[in-house]
Amino acid sequence: MFTKILIANRGEIACRVIATCRKLGIRTVAVYSEADAGARHVRLADEAYCVGPAASRESYLRIERIVEVCKQSGAQAVHPGYGFLSENENFAKACEENGIVFIGPPVKSIRAMGSKSAAKALMQEAKVPLVPGYHGNDQDPALLQREADRIGYPVLIKASAGGGGKGMRVVNATDEFTAALASCQREARTSFGDDRVLIEKYLQQPRHIEIQVFADKAGHTISLNERDCSAQRRHQKVVEEAPAPSVDAKQRAAMGRAACDAARAVGYVGAGTVEFIADSQGNFYFMEMNTRLQVEHPVTEMITGLDLVEWQLRVASGEDLPLTQEQVPLNGHSIEVRIYAEEPEKGFLPSVGRLVYFKTPQPSAHVRLDTGVEQGDEITPHYDPMIAKLIVWDRTREAAIERMLGALADTHIVGVGQNVNFLSRLVGHRAFREGRVDTGLIERERAELIPAATNLPAEVFQVAALAQLSSERTAADQAASPWSIADGWRINGAQRRTLQFSVGEQTENVALRYTPTGYLIGDEPARVQRLSDASLRISLGQRHLETTVVPQGEQLHVFLRGAHHAITYVDPLIHAGESEETHGGLTAPMPGKIIALLAEPGAEVAKGAPLLVMEAMKMELTVFAPSKGKLVSYLCSAGDQVKEGVPLVDFQAIA
Ligand code: ADP
Ligand code: ADP
Ligand code: MG
Repeated sequence: MFTKILIANRGEIACRVIATCRKLGIRTVAVYSEADAGARHVRLADEAYCVGPAASRESYLRIERIVEVCKQSGAQAVHPGYGFLSENENFAKACEENGIVFIGPPVKSIRAMGSKSAAKALMQEAKVPLVPGYHGNDQDPALLQREADRIGYPVLIKASAGGGGKGMRVVNATDEFTAALASCQREARTSFGDDRVLIEKYLQQPRHIEIQVFADKAGHTISLNERDCSAQRRHQKVVEEAPAPSVDAKQRAAMGRAACDAARAVGYVGAGTVEFIADSQGNFYFMEMNTRLQVEHPVTEMITGLDLVEWQLRVASGEDLPLTQEQVPLNGHSIEVRIYAEEPEKGFLPSVGRLVYFKTPQPSAHVRLDTGVEQGDEITPHYDPMIAKLIVWDRTREAAIERMLGALADTHIVGVGQNVNFLSRLVGHRAFREGRVDTGLIERERAELIPAATNLPAEVFQVAALAQLSSERTAADQAASPWSIADGWRINGAQRRTLQFSVGEQTENVALRYTPTGYLIGDEPARVQRLSDASLRISLGQRHLETTVVPQGEQLHVFLRGAHHAITYVDPLIHAGESEETHGGLTAPMPGKIIALLAEPGAEVAKGAPLLVMEAMKMELTVFAPSKGKLVSYLCSAGDQVKEGVPLVDFQAIA
């Protein structure tokens, strides 16, 4: 086994590979771009080397530089992850030539599967079923048109060198063909530097089912069950699961055999995935083979209990596969979702920014989270916008769905746009629950999955109001420990307070009254208990709610009942032509005696700073600054007996 390897990747997959290396006692070398100097994979690795500026071309894709770092660091092997150089035969060759083990298949297998057209020709020979289509070398547009006509519309034009859902065009009728071909070729040229295409029958409502295969150098080739990756958006996977809800043991075995045939036909070694497209009659056809570890490999790990990266390392170092086909386990059900920095409401626009708050569910036998970022990290525009993969396992698909909904409800992200609400709706959608998942599901159910903005229920605003008051109190408590008391007496001495919120077009006022034990909202008693920094336990009448509320600027991010609402708190002291209270008015909350004045007249104080203490009804009450502001002067002295409503402090808010 290797003692030191280099990971030629970034993000979650680099971290994932490092985790297995740690377990096996293998030292790790990270590479990073200037934009990733502080990234999690760099922090986790034993050593790290900068390989260039942010742009992938100038860093993660620089073959010579990465080979050089291998030599410099003494790494015996390279794990390429997925994306980047993972399917680059020149990289695999460069490793080989420099005596570095490429943790992946032989160069010839990568080359054979690198072109979708050439791969299909090979698969035809190996008798692997193919989608009816044309994958010849002749790229004469007139010939391509004739082939499309022969296949029958709709057809799909695909870039032979394509990947990542790019370079594909659906053509519905013969007179659309020429324009679609030209546009597909243009995209293929810019994205892959190769404008060759193939044509396939475009299947209606198909499922994407893929088989994980593994082969060792001794020639054993096995399959590790299937994954269903039909929940896609623009031909890109969003949710993946194993086993596939539509596949029975017989079909699993048939697909497994076809996938192993495909792998053997190209002399495959290591981890690979054979992707099939399946119709509703149970027919399946080869689409392509990905000659690397797949993004969604964790669902296979969850149902087999295997560590695929460990297998990759063992096979690359010359060990045989530890299991035979018959010994491959299949336990329970696993689902993965890809959490992306993107805004479904804005056409899935990618989002960048700092992860101001990033809380994820507790890992367990049921829940796994693979990520390359932590709270405080930046999602930059330079790379893939994936924030994390959330993976769950349970004994049945139904239970796994419930686990996923629970885990998504515990995933709280503030600072960048993200698709967590969308994923919850998708996994909770009745079609998904019933296993009726095909590649058109998301597009078809778009209106339900991305509902137009509707008015939020009053409860969300009530929770926000309680959270806001609780945070004012916490700020005050922290500032004033000796005098702090946890009752309902608050700023302005007011016994009532109305907080205003807005979200989109909706404006909502929450009127609260303080009581000795909490608040009254309408005639419902309410209480707040702060469990940690942002998480609260709230009771509202008969309802008991666990919630997380994270402030960010003027926004309050309320995570409640599995959904995330970003609402604006209209702070009366910051906004609104500045109300009368902003100047002059902190008053005695009740009749009592002034005990102590705590701030310097003329001083600027922070929001929540303790200003004075008074005694009333044998209790000490602290009056706090309602916002950042200037304590102009005290209108009372220690020892004074004051009546309710008497002005105590001349306070001027500062915006
Ligand atoms: P990529 O290299 O971009 O992953 P694939 O060939 O794997 O390209 O196709 C990506 C996706 O496009 C598939 O998962 C499937 O949803 C869809 N697709 C591909 N071929 C067909 C087809 N013949 N009919 C219908 N959908 C297809
Ligand atoms: P799979 O077929 O394994 O699901 P996809 O094609 O969906 O893979 O995703 C692979 C893509 O992930 C690459 O094409 C690339 O755009 C992106 N990618 C590459 N490296 C990383 C990384 N380290 N972190 C996140 N995304 C990456
Ligand atoms: Mg594919």
